[in-house]
Amino acid sequence: MRPATEHDIRASFVNCSKGEVKRINLPKDLADHPWGDLDFLGWRDPGAPERAYLVAERDGLLVGVALRVTSGASRGFTSRSMCSLCLTTHTSGGVALMTARRTGEAGRQGNSVGQYLCTDLACSLYTRGKKEAAGGAAIDESLTPEEKTARTKANLYSFLDKVTE
Ligand SMILES: [Zn+2]
Repeated sequence: MRPATEHDIRASFVNCSKGEVKRINLPKDLADHPWGDLDFLGWRDPGAPERAYLVAERDGLLVGVALRVTSGASRGFTSRSMCSLCLTTHTSGGVALMTARRTGEAGRQGNSVGQYLCTDLACSLYTRGKKEAAGGAAIDESLTPEEKTARTKANLYSFLDKVTE
């Protein structure tokens, strides 16, 4: 994705009030982020571990979504879970259920959409082989990194559709 500034990122959130957007802790060192390797910018709020954020570029526009980390997907120490965006499997704690409040009237009525995501939101780096899941085994896939990236983006866009439709 294109490098984004703090202003761009704050302006991109679709499911937060203006007050909430002001209080979001953005990642430090935005200028030094590996933007070329990112399908989306994702981060956890270091001061509030239950908050996570995801900013994607779609059709040239940034779309930011605030997420609430509701639980780890762990069902035991040895169980593995899969991220629904990048399909990386992790051992306990590497994947968490994150929910996004839907936009508009649906959101005002309290509707949200949940997805199991890599807890560090580093899907883009896993699909490019730049980061390995701790204790996780890569599924033996014949897809190239480009194909995996395309699949991650398709999964991401369908998630964004569910949040904003
Ligand atoms: Zn992932």
